[in-house]
Amino acid sequence: MAEREILLEVEHLHKYFPIKGVRGPGIQAVQDVSFSIFRGETLGLVGESGCGKTTLGRTVLRLHEPTGGRIRYGGTTLFARDLDEHGKPIGRTTAVDMLPYRRKMQIIFQDPSASLDPRMTVGELIGEALDIHHLTHGRAQRTQRIQALLEQVGLRAEHAGRYPHEFSGGQQQRVGIARALAVNPEFIVCDEPISALDVSIQSQVVNMLEDMHRELGLTYLFIAHDLSVVHHISNRVGVMYLGSLVELAGSDELSLHPLHPYTQTLLSAVPVPDPQVSRSRKRIPLHGEIPSPMHPPTGCPFHPRCPHARPVCAQARPAFQEASPGHWIACHLVQS
Ligand code: SF4
Repeated sequence: MAEREILLEVEHLHKYFPIKGVRGPGIQAVQDVSFSIFRGETLGLVGESGCGKTTLGRTVLRLHEPTGGRIRYGGTTLFARDLDEHGKPIGRTTAVDMLPYRRKMQIIFQDPSASLDPRMTVGELIGEALDIHHLTHGRAQRTQRIQALLEQVGLRAEHAGRYPHEFSGGQQQRVGIARALAVNPEFIVCDEPISALDVSIQSQVVNMLEDMHRELGLTYLFIAHDLSVVHHISNRVGVMYLGSLVELAGSDELSLHPLHPYTQTLLSAVPVPDPQVSRSRKRIPLHGEIPSPMHPPTGCPFHPRCPHARPVCAQARPAFQEASPGHWIACHLVQS
């Protein structure tokens, strides 16, 4: 079988937000996360609110500057900086100019109304992306391209003259998608693209993203808290807890054979349409609150809430390792 091409590679990525006047690293939003995305695949990312998935998506695009780690895209190192055990940078930092990569790497935001400038028409919003990257020549070609993009996302050419507030939430998200598509990207971070939308239009947007993925050969990092949507759209799924990636596997493998206690808890709470299956499924309660990312627990970040925790879990952070081909997990109970 032909080797799949790795498009994005992330190694030991950290993102801390220092707090003014407070000693220490501050909010440790992303901690030592490593994964790859193959060209043409959709990698889903799930976890509770505040687990760091959105910060991870933005850090990968360098919309947030990483604190440490490595990001490679298409074989080019976009960022590299090593950290010591106290989170202080050591050695030389490599960081390339992102402008050429901004065209290839795009984002669709969670809240379309907040991500569109209310003072600009839809045509201006899409045209701005074309202008920054000099993608059209002359007024007529620019107008044609804007109209084609609007039609591609299910809107009409005459919508170009309207302002964002004149659209519904679903239509605004379509404008956000058209703007991301304007620059012919290869890779898109879809950051909870349907969670702010009415349930009735969520499936339309998911179907449109799937069509675009297939027709344009796109690669997605699809972030959501709804496991069933992520399972539906993704080839592989990663599970985050308190800034760390705790499990990563093929979409079916993860839902049929979850290994990490946190993933098992998440999956047990997913509603099943079949009442018989639903009755036979045991819900695993998750006790306690998610700890503060300012003071994450020592050892395994899940140990204060884990029903299987052992003394070692509070002392040593489990390595993220491949338990079986393609199935990665960070848990002392599961050895490779
Ligand atoms: Fe639970 Fe320990 Fe595994 Fe963490 S390492 S998930 S605390 S068993």
